[in-house]
Amino acid sequence: MDNCLFCKIINGEITAKKVYENEHIIAFNDIDPKAPIHILVIPKKHIRSINELNSSDINLAGEIILAAKKIAKDQGVDSKGFRVVFNTNDDGGQTVYHIHMHIMGGRQMQWPPG
Ligand code: AMP
Ligand code: ZN
Repeated sequence: MDNCLFCKIINGEITAKKVYENEHIIAFNDIDPKAPIHILVIPKKHIRSINELNSSDINLAGEIILAAKKIAKDQGVDSKGFRVVFNTNDDGGQTVYHIHMHIMGGRQMQWPPG
């Protein structure tokens, strides 16, 4: 989609440090990490947020979650633990409107989040 930052990363107009890619999804380091490990997983298909997911995206949503398992293991944070977050719309703190899952690890997370 035009003017979507993450679509530009997918099509190579903007570079990012990729850590994983397959036919449907891509994962890359967050440019402004909030934890020692901070990776974003996005679908190659433009979907605005969780609110725009529908039942035909069920496999894609599953792939994104399974990528968290693989990436956490690859990054060595699977057993100590990590956090996944989908910020959604304003109250959720979403700033980029192409659905993405944050994977954060490498430090103790706090609860509740701010
Ligand atoms: P959110 O606030 O949940 O929408 O998350 C958007 C995330 O995208 C933030 O954590 C940003 O630091 C990150 N971000 C913004 N621009 C880039 C970029 N060019 N490459 C990688 N991550 C980015
Ligand atoms: Zn997009």
